[in-house]
Amino acid sequence: MRSQAFLLSSWAALTLAAPSTTNNYGHFDPSDIIERDVAIIGGGAAGTHASISLKDKGKSVIVIEKKDRIGGHAETYIDSATGTPIDMGVIIFHNLTIVRDYFARFDVPLITLGSDAGSGSDSVSANYDLRTGKEVNITSPSQADTAAAFANYTQFLSKYPRLNDGMFLPSPVPDDLVLPFGKFAKKYGIEAALPTMYNYNPGLGDILTVPMIENQRVWGQSLVQQLSGGFLTTAHHNTSELYSKAQAELLAASSLLLSSQVLDSERCDDGITLVVSTPKGRKLVRARKLLITIPPRLNFLAPFDLSKNERSIFAKLIDAGYYTSILRNTGLPDNLSIANARPDTPYNLPSLPSVYSIGSTDVPGLKLAYYGTPRSPATFPLPDKKVKADILAAFKTLQRANPGAFNQTEPEFVAYSSHAPFYLQARPEDTKKGFYGEMYKLQGGRSTYWTGASWRAQDSSDIWRFTEEEVLPGLVEGL
Ligand SMILES: Cc1cc2nc3c(=O)[nH]c(=O)nc-3n(C[C@H](O)[C@H](O)[C@H](O)COP(=O)(O)OP(=O)(O)OC[C@H]3O[C@@H](n4cnc5c(N)ncnc54)[C@H](O)[C@@H]3O)c2cc1C
Repeated sequence: MRSQAFLLSSWAALTLAAPSTTNNYGHFDPSDIIERDVAIIGGGAAGTHASISLKDKGKSVIVIEKKDRIGGHAETYIDSATGTPIDMGVIIFHNLTIVRDYFARFDVPLITLGSDAGSGSDSVSANYDLRTGKEVNITSPSQADTAAAFANYTQFLSKYPRLNDGMFLPSPVPDDLVLPFGKFAKKYGIEAALPTMYNYNPGLGDILTVPMIENQRVWGQSLVQQLSGGFLTTAHHNTSELYSKAQAELLAASSLLLSSQVLDSERCDDGITLVVSTPKGRKLVRARKLLITIPPRLNFLAPFDLSKNERSIFAKLIDAGYYTSILRNTGLPDNLSIANARPDTPYNLPSLPSVYSIGSTDVPGLKLAYYGTPRSPATFPLPDKKVKADILAAFKTLQRANPGAFNQTEPEFVAYSSHAPFYLQARPEDTKKGFYGEMYKLQGGRSTYWTGASWRAQDSSDIWRFTEEEVLPGLVEGL
């Protein structure tokens, strides 16, 4: 708890103090005081892009990242025997100028997804029910039906152009935007698009029951357009190449604190002060503006001196968990990719929590497995132990049900990553009452701006566009 004296101290008072100072946070040597235009919390897709953009605009920044690397959900496993990268996180990007320019700035080449002999070029896809291990025969919607469904969808979206820029909902919020997505799809003739939407937007929770607006975050006009033009991916199948290069640049400019976390803070209208724990001891960060990009869970934001209003808004967010892993000794053929499917559910969707899919990789003997939960009020919807046990059980079920086709081996994890909390989202009743309007009104309050997946979408390209067009203009004003 901070003292009353601390609460009354102001940014102005702190900046007027001598550089080597004992203040309400204790004593700081001049070498431990960092002064920048902008402090950025989190070095994932949002924080990294914002830091580079601000740097290029001539602003000084400091990124505070809790892990020993930046990149967040962009994670790449490097096979130690062959040096082959396997992206187990972010892979695809929209073909937009902002994306191409960003990758070009770091000299990271992009290609159209699927245009080279890389990952999965000879792969075979099949549907299996991972509860029984039995193959499920599914008739997918025809291309023509899928295209017609997406045309119906874009026609609907065209009524709300601001939805493509962010979670800018009309007021009052139309009922259609909070309909469970399954009902919405039926009402507007979008059912044939549902399997594609589900495949490209995992980690959302149960797509049939989530409010339409939550699936729409990712499935905005921009993503729909990529279906005809083709997604971009990195030519080296290594998204982390972008982040390694950005990290080197930020470190060289003394603009990044890795393995660091904010312990305490004061946010005022004319600037912010942070006490940060770093591997080299505590630092005092003073900045004109603060950009928070981490998932806005109350427990994560505890050191940020939240107002009652901020606390009551963020307390309403619920979550869905998403987990990735790489395994060896799975007993499955190298080129086989599996989607979890049920013979007895609408659209053959599996019940969550469960493995979504098993993917092949460029390394013989290694498989990717993706796992998701339904929506949950918990920050961490499932313990990692349970997720891992379910993933192993899915492989064993497949082996047992298909003794002739799959080898009877003991699968082992070579990498595992929990991405929880993942899909932070509002309940439909809160959305209807104007939740997102209230959340967006927080931008700029007490020198603090907000961005990241929870503010826009679980989609790097959309996050970059949103941050650049909707958040940074206000943030750089007056800097
Ligand atoms: C498996 C997987 C695959 C995906 N595939 C794609 C894809 O192909 N294309 C796509 O566009 N999107 C994809 N996504 C969505 C992806 O999450 C977003 O594109 C984007 O990476 C989210 O960026 P962010 O900055 O909001 O969050 P994050 O990437 O999570 O970044 C947040 C950062 O903040 C750090 N942090 C957290 N708490 C603190 C703290 N208290 N102090 C300091 N730092 C902290 C974290 O360590 C992290 O580095 C995928 C996600 C997952 C999990």
